[in-house]
Amino acid sequence: MPRHLHTESNTPRWIALAAVLVVFSALVFGALHFASGTTTPAGTDTSPLPLASSATTAAPGGASATGAPASNTPTAAAVDPKTGRRSTLGGLVPDYTLPPIEDGMVPVITKIPTEQKVVFLTIDDGAVKRESDLALLEKNGIKASLFLAHTFIAGHSDFYQAYLDAGFLIEDHTMTHNLGFINLPYGQVKAEICGMADYEEKYFGRRPVLFRPPGGPYTMAVRRAAAECGMKAIVDWEAKANARSMQYQVGDALRPGEIVLMHFRPEFPADLGAFVKAAKAAGLKPVLLEDYLGVK
Ligand SMILES: [Zn+2]
Repeated sequence: MPRHLHTESNTPRWIALAAVLVVFSALVFGALHFASGTTTPAGTDTSPLPLASSATTAAPGGASATGAPASNTPTAAAVDPKTGRRSTLGGLVPDYTLPPIEDGMVPVITKIPTEQKVVFLTIDDGAVKRESDLALLEKNGIKASLFLAHTFIAGHSDFYQAYLDAGFLIEDHTMTHNLGFINLPYGQVKAEICGMADYEEKYFGRRPVLFRPPGGPYTMAVRRAAAECGMKAIVDWEAKANARSMQYQVGDALRPGEIVLMHFRPEFPADLGAFVKAAKAAGLKPVLLEDYLGVK
């Protein structure tokens, strides 16, 4: 064999080298492809070690701020082994990492800075409760993050079980939805956020990790209180599905990484229709914000 490689003319040696390169490239490509999860069947969590570690490095939250071992929290996993909830990412590995809590304050996000073709729907309050709204979301293959306030949903926690069963997640939007929230004394600000987190943990079996202030405004005190209540970020928006059409703070179309605000209101079907149309026009896939952020 060595004689073959050393005594042959240049041409076969090039062929041998090319063959080695092809095999090596195939291995690397296969590894990346597999790490991205695109070939991992649902429910299997058997990535070889080197691949699992590369996936963890690329995934936000892989180093798990919750204290869970990183090896158990690959973001690209199709199904959460603990909750049985299926990821909406479809193997996509996010290219964004949520900033950590700094100086005791949660980060604020209004849009994810990514070029990946994703968009995030968030639906607020819970004033209107109709089973047909969930059916419409399901029909369109959309999961959303629901920012609910106690004042709208108290006594109706059973209604939202169907959303949880369908893979939606419920987040924190305060107890009373006081639009003067940011002017309240710190203790009350904290009680508004922690109170709703406690309620949701009790009735929905999961403590929320994302917070949206009523109306959107926040202060440093709100960011601090949110952190103390266990939140990982304040989530606002730069686009709305509102009054039967899309409204943009920037430009006139949905951008990759856009966080869209919507409400459970009588006009829900028309608002959702406007969102679906805009997402299709922009070539964006609605995925769950929590999946993309790698938060549980
Ligand atoms: Zn609201």
